[in-house]
Amino acid sequence: MSWSFKLFKVKGIDVKIHLTFVLILIWAAYRWSVSTGEGLMGAVFGIVATLLLFASVTLHEFGHSLQALKFGIVVHDITLMPMGGLARIEEIPEDPTKEIRIAIAGPLVNFIIAGVLFGIGLLLNTQAIISLDELYSSMGQVSWNGMLAYLTMTNLLLGLFNLIPAYPMDGGRILRASLAKKMDRSKATNIAVNIGQGLALLFGLWGFMNGSYTLVLIAIFVWMGAGQEGKDVAVKSVLSDMKVSQAMTLQPKTLRVNDSLSKAINLTLSTSQSDFPVTEWPSNQVVGLLCERDLLKGLQAHDQNTSVRVVMQKTFPTTTPDRPLYESQKDMAAGKTRAIPVVDDEGNIVGLLTAADINEAYRLLRMSQKNKP
Ligand SMILES: [Zn+2]
Repeated sequence: MSWSFKLFKVKGIDVKIHLTFVLILIWAAYRWSVSTGEGLMGAVFGIVATLLLFASVTLHEFGHSLQALKFGIVVHDITLMPMGGLARIEEIPEDPTKEIRIAIAGPLVNFIIAGVLFGIGLLLNTQAIISLDELYSSMGQVSWNGMLAYLTMTNLLLGLFNLIPAYPMDGGRILRASLAKKMDRSKATNIAVNIGQGLALLFGLWGFMNGSYTLVLIAIFVWMGAGQEGKDVAVKSVLSDMKVSQAMTLQPKTLRVNDSLSKAINLTLSTSQSDFPVTEWPSNQVVGLLCERDLLKGLQAHDQNTSVRVVMQKTFPTTTPDRPLYESQKDMAAGKTRAIPVVDDEGNIVGLLTAADINEAYRLLRMSQKNKP
């Protein structure tokens, strides 16, 4: 089940909201109503303040997304979560200048909002820029005047916070892209990841000593984000030089559409394979895919004499021997499947590429790269 539901769509981008976000609204209503002692009025104020804050976060994500669209990059959706927003952009461009422009567009939006609010403050004769202490104490009051300052300051902080040079913050991407202008991309990523994790460690320690556990949480989040990004780029740089034919399993065991599920069970138990391309006699063209998961599901609903045709996947990605391994790995992830049949020009089965094949290729290649003189 998906925990997000769609709110609206702008320029082909779905804006979704994560269900846990509702918890934040409840918390805001509770906090403002209790701490202000103004009951319902406080609750309404808290919800409005939180919604406006998240509107700022949404606009930040739109900053990234619209800039990406300008470069012709597909943006799937924007999801709002308690931790903030997340725009799913098809692929971060490897051109450093484009990456920098997409990354910087988000914080820029927050600075523009802050600037506009500051202007409104001047017109209304209300102070928009306040100190952090004042900001903190304003969070316990119901003051519609204070709302302006609250929004100005949170937008300023959002912009600054995201410029911290640590993944997965925008600043981390800007740092990596700036380094990538002068050196190899995977080396640039390595340096950016190390700086990011170093900063995360400092944040975490500082938060821990000051009893600010929110900061500790953010530090952990940054640490893991940095590590993941480093891994993705390393995998990509290793796998992009390889072809599918170098990693695939040759002459995999296959099933026929009329075979029974019990044959699939026997093959799974007696071979090291657990995912099978399915062909229809007498041709060798792949018409289906039976992964272990499909087999288990099939056995729950049917008996062992049921034919493979009934439970196999009929739509699934395929690949060819000369495709780059990295691209097939992406197809595998996108299709949420553990194996992809490898076919020739006529659609005949020539091999099977599994997640295990890719992991093995990655480990071996990385070892041999490390040992290069
Ligand atoms: Zn951002």
